[in-house]
Amino acid sequence: MSTPQPRATVAEIPPYVAGKPPTVRPGMTSYKLSSNENPYPPLPGVVEAVQAGVAAMNRYPDMGSAGLNAALAETFDVPAEHLSVATGSVGLIYQLVQAFCDPGDEVVFAWRSFEAYPIAITAAAATSVQVPVLADGRHDLDAMAAAITDRTKVVLVCTPNNPTGPAVTQAELDAFLARVPSHVLVVVDEAYLEFVRMDDAVDGIATYRRHDNVVLTRTFSKAYGLAGFRVGYAVAPAPIAAALRAVSLPFGVSTIAQAAAVASLERRAELLERVDALVAERDRVVAGLREVGWDVPEPQGNFVWFELGERTGDFAAAADEAGITVRPFAGEGCRVSIGEPEANDRLVSVAAGFTR
Ligand SMILES: *Cc1c(COP(=O)(O)O)cnc(C)c1O
Repeated sequence: MSTPQPRATVAEIPPYVAGKPPTVRPGMTSYKLSSNENPYPPLPGVVEAVQAGVAAMNRYPDMGSAGLNAALAETFDVPAEHLSVATGSVGLIYQLVQAFCDPGDEVVFAWRSFEAYPIAITAAAATSVQVPVLADGRHDLDAMAAAITDRTKVVLVCTPNNPTGPAVTQAELDAFLARVPSHVLVVVDEAYLEFVRMDDAVDGIATYRRHDNVVLTRTFSKAYGLAGFRVGYAVAPAPIAAALRAVSLPFGVSTIAQAAAVASLERRAELLERVDALVAERDRVVAGLREVGWDVPEPQGNFVWFELGERTGDFAAAADEAGITVRPFAGEGCRVSIGEPEANDRLVSVAAGFTR
């Protein structure tokens, strides 16, 4: 008897491997460094704003996220028609592929990069074109430009790149954009934007203003510490933002997520101080790693990348022993989030045992 069959590409969707929670060990505090989350608890005012939203759970959320769009428009000085909010920037990636790709159309992106990309692309029956990152974990933008064909509809630039860490410079991005045909959409995934501290850093807003084919995707999950609420936003020229809104899941962003995001934007200065503290911890970890003989790719997000090859599993197990959970990529390496100072200290000790 025949049964309903999903389309063939569904069986090809790679699984999303979520960062594991820490192993509980008696007498030892364990830390989760496997999902690039913000280790700080929510700011007090944010919790209260959310509580007000909780009381209205019998009502659907504001479908247009008017309050959040207005707050974003004001914070980043962009027209509200250039914004589209979604259930995290993963939601935005799905929507972008859905809105711009027919089955078989190509999406070019660096690899290794964010694991949600091939999932979203395959789910839409589009085709992934992966361009290996350079030895130092940077995007090979020349090779990515060369990989664009007549079938290419979208290019994803992940900066800083998850999981390897480096970010592209404005000069590199400008040179790349000059080579991309104007009908190809360039998505600049700025999930870790707030952690970037480098010369010639990308100014995403200035860049999208200069190009009709550039969209920025951003999230409240990382620097803003709202990973559990699923809210992100795109900044794009009006027609692209409109396409994103058209394919969005109706009422996708919950009332409490909208409230938390608005309250977080109101407390942006305070949140960015916490980001500064995490960046200082990142610098401290990099210096500590260098002292014990580890040279990691330049981390511009809230995580560091250890290229470990066959030793990846051993490193993850040793970290687990030490009460920290990292994100292993089998046969490649481990990504470790910057967390509490004690967790970061343990990471440096573990890494000391694994130098090349
Ligand atoms: C974490 C992350 C996101 C954000 O995901 P959300 O769905 O907003 O939680 C997007 N892109 C990259 C590269 C990430 O690492």
